Amino acid sequence: MTPTTSAAPLAPPPAGRSAGFAEALRQAVADGLLGEEQPVAGFLDTDGVRRSVAALHAAFDAVPGVPVLHTFAAKAASLVPVLRLLAACGMGCEVASPGELRLAVEAGFAPERIVLDSPAKTREELRLALALGVAVNADSLDELRRIGELRSPRSASVLGLRVNPQVGGGSIGAMSTATATSKFGVPLRDPGVREQVVDAFAQRGWLTRLHAHVGSQGCPPELIAEGIAETYRLAEEINEAVGVRRITGIDIGGGLPVNFTDDEDRPSFSDYVSALRAAAPGLFDGRYALVTEFGRSLLAKNGFIGARVEYTKDAGGRRIALTHAGAQVATRTVFMPDAWPLRIGAFDAEGLPRKGPLLAQDIAGPCCFAGDVVAHARELPELREGDFVALYDTGAYYFSTHWAYNSLPRPAVYGFVRDDADGGGVRFAPVRDAQSLDSVAAESGLDHADSLTALGTGLPAGRGDEDRNR
Ligand SMILES: *Cc1c(COP(=O)(O)O)cnc(C)c1O
Repeated sequence: MTPTTSAAPLAPPPAGRSAGFAEALRQAVADGLLGEEQPVAGFLDTDGVRRSVAALHAAFDAVPGVPVLHTFAAKAASLVPVLRLLAACGMGCEVASPGELRLAVEAGFAPERIVLDSPAKTREELRLALALGVAVNADSLDELRRIGELRSPRSASVLGLRVNPQVGGGSIGAMSTATATSKFGVPLRDPGVREQVVDAFAQRGWLTRLHAHVGSQGCPPELIAEGIAETYRLAEEINEAVGVRRITGIDIGGGLPVNFTDDEDRPSFSDYVSALRAAAPGLFDGRYALVTEFGRSLLAKNGFIGARVEYTKDAGGRRIALTHAGAQVATRTVFMPDAWPLRIGAFDAEGLPRKGPLLAQDIAGPCCFAGDVVAHARELPELREGDFVALYDTGAYYFSTHWAYNSLPRPAVYGFVRDDADGGGVRFAPVRDAQSLDSVAAESGLDHADSLTALGTGLPAGRGDEDRNR
């Protein structure tokens, strides 16, 4: 199956996205998808995803005559049914590992709609990508040489080079890819490097694309646009120097930041297109095919995590709700709470929104380390045992990017739609089953259970402790 249907225009979202999520949470509790047995799960609003994809397409289509391939950055939601939905909505797919490439192929993306980026591609990975005909962006001049050795003239792959325009970072260092010392791309402002890049294109007729992914959450759109403008100017310079239109496409990456404070999509894709057009008007005059690689801005606000409150307690004057959503599903938020704050909703045991006076509460997770708290001293209606919390805006990089700490199982993920026409009702579809304890054991080396005891010891006789417990 190769879904290529274009994104259809959709009606604006019903007022208050999180109001719709509350309805989904209540129904999930009623259907037993969330409860004592399944105390945490991820949920994705698939109509919301369709709307976000349509908004992306509309923002770029507003400038006529520019060919654009919009790819979805697989790492933002590495789940096959989600990728297949995106393919059906007219997206391509950006992948950055053998696993992500496999998921993209399984999801049904045609090879010419897949782009491979990654700073550490092996020869084997490159061989496979070139054989499949997926586009590849080299991360360095050394990688470009490797690709030159491996490619056959028959390969259908579009080949590009990732540059780092070094325009600076945003508010989150770990998300800023265009700092002077970033590990990504060829550092354009370093002495002599720009000339080497021009030369690399002059020498290779098959190298036809420039790629830049300037930043992610925390980078303002104007900063990203400045990096893209710098990349555009480089493309012009290269084509001028080579004397032919060597560069035919520019991959502008993703990185549009997401508003985690309320329901609004802010900045919008249209805001971003405006910023790009202001910074690099020539980018949109139709001479370059464009590729985008958005992840977070397409999915984050279309998903939430639901989790049960197992206990509450008071400690040092602070109320703490111990829930099943912690660092295993909200890793960044737990480790960098100021950079990645999440909105939390409070619900009763039936899944109805909790009302009542606000109380400062820590919303803690199940992991065994003290910092496993997803919200500190958050003012919420008082939570009780058996209640539920919703972690909003977690459709990208949260439930899809589970961390295996404490051998906690990957939670189930469901897609849902709300049948507004029939006066309500929420329908769910499985995206990923909850991980079983058999699977946890298998992934923890169960097949090799005896291997270390059977290995024996290299220590002199009597020093080892191999028989202590026998
Ligand atoms: C992570 C990544 C993206 C997507 O970034 P978002 O912030 O999710 O839009 C796109 N391109 C590359 C190369 C990336 O590493």
